[in-house]
Amino acid sequence: MDAKRNTIQRQLVYDAVKNLNIHASAEQVYEYIAREHPTISKATVYRNLSQMAEMGELCNIGNFWGSARYDHNLHKHYHFICEECERVFDVDNFSPEIDGRSPFMEGFEIKSHSLTFSGLCPECRA
Ligand SMILES: [Zn+2]
Ligand SMILES: [Zn+2]
Repeated sequence: MDAKRNTIQRQLVYDAVKNLNIHASAEQVYEYIAREHPTISKATVYRNLSQMAEMGELCNIGNFWGSARYDHNLHKHYHFICEECERVFDVDNFSPEIDGRSPFMEGFEIKSHSLTFSGLCPECRA
């Protein structure tokens, strides 16, 4: 495969994740791209997603409802999962850790942590 085609595919995949803005699964990314580019294969989309996650261009935020979800937001943040509509939201303005120190764990140095909230989003509560 030539490098130029590769770059175009990567850009399509990145833009899909960003524009969907729902922490999309590979399936959702494929469906989004296939609407405009019906010749792209599912395997190509899946391969680009996992390669980009490996290279740190996208973030694989883990498996929800049986499929990995991808995030274009590489800044440290948390997620809220709606159990009803299965969308994943960013949680802003919340940090249990400041510069590797936790306000709750004096004397400990935190190297990493993960935290996910789940429940109902405002639309599903209504
Ligand atoms: Zn919801
Ligand atoms: Zn996110």
